[in-house]
Amino acid sequence: MSRSLLLLCLCLLSCGARAEVRLLTSIKPLQLIAAAVQDGVGRPEVLLPPGASPHHYALRPSDVQRVRDVELFYWVGEDLEGFLGKPLAGRAKPSVAVQALPGLRLRRFEAGGEAHETQAEHDQDHRPGSLDAHLWLLPANARVIAARMAADLAAADPAHAARYQANLDAFGERLQRLDARLSGELRAVADKPYFVFHEAYDYFESAYGLRHAGVFSVLGEVQPGARHVAAMRERLQRAGPSCVFSEPPLRPRLAETLTAGLPVRLAELDAMGAALEPTADGYESLLDTLARDLAACLNAL
Ligand SMILES: [Zn+2]
Repeated sequence: MSRSLLLLCLCLLSCGARAEVRLLTSIKPLQLIAAAVQDGVGRPEVLLPPGASPHHYALRPSDVQRVRDVELFYWVGEDLEGFLGKPLAGRAKPSVAVQALPGLRLRRFEAGGEAHETQAEHDQDHRPGSLDAHLWLLPANARVIAARMAADLAAADPAHAARYQANLDAFGERLQRLDARLSGELRAVADKPYFVFHEAYDYFESAYGLRHAGVFSVLGEVQPGARHVAAMRERLQRAGPSCVFSEPPLRPRLAETLTAGLPVRLAELDAMGAALEPTADGYESLLDTLARDLAACLNAL
C-alpha cells in the first residue's frame, strides 16, 4: 500500500469516528421510526429496496456487507426476516431484533374462524398461532422501538444525546395526537366490510377498532384452483358492498377474477410505506396514509 493511500485510509477512519452514527434497518417502517429519532443529526439507511417483501427476500452479497459494516442494526426478528439470521451471526457489532424488546405489545394470528380458513395455504409467516410480525403498525410499539434507538444512539454518540432524547419526546407527543385523530376518523368506517390479500394490518386494526372480514391468501403469482376462487367469491357476495385491498407494487392477478361483477371496490393499502421518504414525520405518514386509504374506500361504499 502506498504512503498516500495509507494516509487516506487513516483519514477516512478518523473522519468516520466523527461522522454521524451509521444506523441501518431491515425494512422501511423501522427506518422511518429511526428517522424521527435521528432528525437533525443523521440519516438512517434501509436494507430492503422499495417494494421488496420481507417475507421473501434474498440478500445480495452487498446487503450482507452493509449488515456487517454499520454501527447499529435493527430488524423485526426471526419471525419476519428469517433470511437475516445467518448474516447477523457473522456480525461483530450488536443488532436489535425489535420483536424481543420489553414493553412491546405482540399479537399472534388467530386460529379458526371463517376469516382464516385460507390461511393454511398462505406462507409460513401468517400461520394461525404464530407471532404476527407486522408489529410496527401499532403506534405504541413504534414508541418503544424509538426509545431503544434513542438509547443506542446516545450511547454511540453521546455528544448528541440530548437531541436524540428531545426527538424521542417530540415523536411520542406527535404520535399521541395522531392516534387521537385517527381514532376519530376511523370510527366512522369501523362497521364496513373489507377484505385483504395480506394479513398485515391486525395491529393497526386492533388500535382503531377495525377488523377485516376475510383474507384472500395467494402465494405470489400462483393462481388458486377454481374451487378456491369460487369459495372466495361466495364470501364476497355474502358481504355485499365491500372493499378489497391489495398491496403495492403488484395487484394479484386474482383480484380482477375474484371481484368481477360484484359490488366491490379494489384499492391498495401499503403496510411498508414504500413510497415514503425517511423524514422525521415519515412514520406518522405511514399510519396516516393507511388510515386515509382505508377510509377513502370504505366511505365510498
Ligand atoms: Zn405479512
